[in-house]
Amino acid sequence: MTTTAVQQFDLLIEGKLSPSLSGNYFDCINPSNGEVFARVSDADTVDVEIAVSAARLGFDHGRWPKMSNAERGEFLIKIASLIRENAKELAELECASTGKTIKHTTFIDVPTAAETFEYFGHLSGKMINETIRNSTPVLSVIEREPVGVVAAIIPWNYPLIMTAWKLAPALLAGNCVVFKPSPAACASVMLLAKLIAQLGLPKGVLNIIASSRAQAGQELVGSPEVDMVSFTGSSKTGEAVMALASKGVKKLTLELGGKSPNIVFADCDMEAAIGGALSAIFMNQGQMCTAGSRLLVEDKIYQEFVEKLVARAKSLKIGPADNFETEFGPLVSVEHRDNVLKFIEKGKQEGAKLACGGGIPNGPGAYLEPTIFINVRNSMHIAQEEIFGPVLCVIPFTSADEAVHIANDTKYGLAAMIWTKDLEKANKLARRLRCGTVWINTYGVFLNEVPFGGYKLSGFGRELGMSGYWEYTQIKHIATDQTPGGRSLVTCWY
Ligand code: NAD
Repeated sequence: MTTTAVQQFDLLIEGKLSPSLSGNYFDCINPSNGEVFARVSDADTVDVEIAVSAARLGFDHGRWPKMSNAERGEFLIKIASLIRENAKELAELECASTGKTIKHTTFIDVPTAAETFEYFGHLSGKMINETIRNSTPVLSVIEREPVGVVAAIIPWNYPLIMTAWKLAPALLAGNCVVFKPSPAACASVMLLAKLIAQLGLPKGVLNIIASSRAQAGQELVGSPEVDMVSFTGSSKTGEAVMALASKGVKKLTLELGGKSPNIVFADCDMEAAIGGALSAIFMNQGQMCTAGSRLLVEDKIYQEFVEKLVARAKSLKIGPADNFETEFGPLVSVEHRDNVLKFIEKGKQEGAKLACGGGIPNGPGAYLEPTIFINVRNSMHIAQEEIFGPVLCVIPFTSADEAVHIANDTKYGLAAMIWTKDLEKANKLARRLRCGTVWINTYGVFLNEVPFGGYKLSGFGRELGMSGYWEYTQIKHIATDQTPGGRSLVTCWY
């Protein structure tokens, strides 16, 4: 690892970097080697309150909500530039935090985060208000206004990208934000906070806090000074967030878990489908909300497909995430790996058969072999619950109808993949799947212009695109009477 010295990061509150009032820091552990690589200031209840009050003040009395989208967009472009200028350090910290390979953080996470800030930064010109012509003599102007103070909370699997997905549209719309990454992987976000502190954003507009305390998220969601909660995390936590946000009827978006089906038909391009299936479950060691964790394979090619897939999975190069040659790094922490191992045990007990993996490579770090289960029934625990690790469940099917039935037989609805050369069949099928994204002959296509989000227990609301921007706005109708003579019906009703 090139980042050798233990770095220290502070909170960004009221426009300046400062340690928590307690002066406590918590350790960030590199899952590749188990070593502490950074320390982050640990926000206490009082720090959360100060951050929220700063955002409240910034929104109620500051100039940010009154600025034009174009002016706010300029700040987003500056954030993107800072990300690009500090790309190497951010990629290294993202890698050390999450265990994601350096190839991944260098070529995907960091540039994607910059591109999202750029996309929303340049979107400002398109934010026009709408004038609605109607049959009455009333001029209707529809305006979109910021919601107010937004509490944004993210998980640990894609810290920089999730930060960009939330901050860019929320800030562009004129909200003031308190942002909380996960303590399990937050060093890259806290470096970004340090960089943003130089920008001269108006006071209170953006507050970034980290905390080792599980209650910090609840304190944010429950604060009466917060108007909106934008949450990404597990479905279980999402339910708790929704219950808490109901007090005060806060606006809410929930981006939650998944158990996405990856449907492979016999008429697919087999090499492409094998490559896609591997990426869908083994990139970022399977710690992706959209992981294609249920692989449905048409019976005609089942045997051949599984044999080839298992051979490729066994050949993945496992190693420290900071090596550019590594194809498969550690999981985010030993604790998380232990949770995944419990699922593997459960799968064996249920009668599923391990085709490969399931073991822990020798040495320190949070490593786990890429794991593939065959003889899986969709009703099994391992096929129904989100494992959030490199564990694939392979299930055969005989017809498109059966594939749709199995695919939809889940409480989640985030994404699905279909592999076939028959695009008419794929498109018809895509419309029968109950989920927010369907990838045909590809996987993981996220575009800044295109909304992303879930159905069912995968949540509601959308990120990215115009839909993602609108989540952070509320709609106002301003109706001006245009009656000739200025006497509308209501003025003479009584
Ligand atoms: P998590 O739900 O445990 O934690 C997410 C965040 O919420 C963290 O910052 C955590 O500190 C905070 N938190 C914990 N309890 C809270 C509470 N009661 N109130 C408010 N905040 C609270 O999830 P995780 O383990 O960090 O991340 C993995 C999960 O995230 C998976 O389920 C994955 O599918 C999901 N995820 C979803 C998407 C998506 O876009 N749909 C993207 C990435 C990850």
